[in-house]
Amino acid sequence: MQSKKDLEQLSIEIRQGNRVSLGRAITLVESRLPEHRILADQLMEILSDHSPVSRRIAITGVPGVGKSTAIEALGLSLIQHRNQTVAVLAIDPSSSISGGSILGDKTRMQELSKQKEAFIRPTPSGGHLGGVGERTMQTILLCEAAGFDNIIIETVGVGQSETEIRYMADIFILLMLPGAGDELQGIKRGIMEMTDLIVLNKFDGNAKESGLDAMNHYRNALHFFPPRSDGWQPRVLKHSMYLPESTLELLDAIDQYYVHLHQNQGLAKFRAEQYTWWFKEQVQRNWLEKLYSKEGFGDNLQRYTQEIREGKLNPFKAARSILRDLD
Ligand code: GDP
Repeated sequence: MQSKKDLEQLSIEIRQGNRVSLGRAITLVESRLPEHRILADQLMEILSDHSPVSRRIAITGVPGVGKSTAIEALGLSLIQHRNQTVAVLAIDPSSSISGGSILGDKTRMQELSKQKEAFIRPTPSGGHLGGVGERTMQTILLCEAAGFDNIIIETVGVGQSETEIRYMADIFILLMLPGAGDELQGIKRGIMEMTDLIVLNKFDGNAKESGLDAMNHYRNALHFFPPRSDGWQPRVLKHSMYLPESTLELLDAIDQYYVHLHQNQGLAKFRAEQYTWWFKEQVQRNWLEKLYSKEGFGDNLQRYTQEIREGKLNPFKAARSILRDLD
C-alpha cells in the first residue's frame, strides 16, 4: 500500500464492513515503521468524516476473573437479543514482556468468533510506556468506521493502562471476584473511582453467599466516594456464566448508563473532553521523547544523577540546569 488511492480504496472497504480490510488497516496502525505511521495518519484522516457512532465499552479485571467468558456472553447477547454487531479488542500487555500472551490464546471466545456479527482482535500493547494509547484509539476509530454497534475493549486490570482505557471508552466496567478482597485483586482506589459498573463475576456455587457480602461491601464503599460531576451513580451488579439473565441485566445497566450519558452532557461533549485529555497527554509524551532523544541529554542525565547520589548537587537545581544545558 503506497498511494493515496490505495488508502482511499481501503477506507471504502472498511466502511463497507470488509473484515479483511479492517484487519489490514489495524495492522497498519499497529506498525512502528515511520512510513506506516504516515500512512496510518492519512488513513485516519480520510476516515474521520462521518463515521457512525459505536458504543465504546471497556471491561477490565485481573487475569482469571472471567473477562473473556463474560465478554463472549455479552457479545452473544448483543447479537441475539439486540440484533447488534460487536467488535472485541483484547489488549494484551503480556506479549511485550514475555513474548507469550495472556489474552491472545485462540481458544478464547470461540462461540463469539464464529458469529458473522462479531470481530475479535487481540492488540499487543507492544511495551509502550504506560500501555496502549494511540494505536488502540485508532483501532477503535477503525472499528467505528466499519460500523460496529459496540466495541468492547478488554484489558487486564494491572493498574497501568486503566486511565488510558478510561479516556478511550464511554463506559468503564470492572469485573471482580465476590470472595476476594479488593487488595487481593490488586484493585486500587483510583480504579474504583473511575468505574461506572462494578460486576461481581462468578456469582454462582459457593460464591453466592460471600457474594452478597461483597455486594454490600462495594455498595458501601461507593458511598464514600465523592459524588461524580456527571451525576452517574456507579452500580454493583452480579454476573455468572451460568445465569443468562445476569448477562441481560448487565446489558440493561450498560443501556441505562448510555441513556444517562445522552441526557446529561451528551456523547459528543463527553468524547470531546476525552480527546482534549489525549491531546495534552500526547504533547507531554512526545515532548519527553524528543527531550530524551536530544544529543547529550542521556549523558547529562547520568552525570547529574550521579552527582545527586553523591550529595554534590541538589535535585531541584539539577533539574533546572539540565534543561538550561539544552538551550
Ligand atoms: P479472564 O482471564 O479474566 O479472561 O478469565 P476467563 O474468562 O478466561 O475465565 C477464567 C476461568 O474462570 C475459566 O476456567 C472459566 O471457565 C471460569 N469462569 C468464567 N466465568 C465464570 C463464571 O461465571 N462462573 C464460574 N464458576 N466460573 C467462571
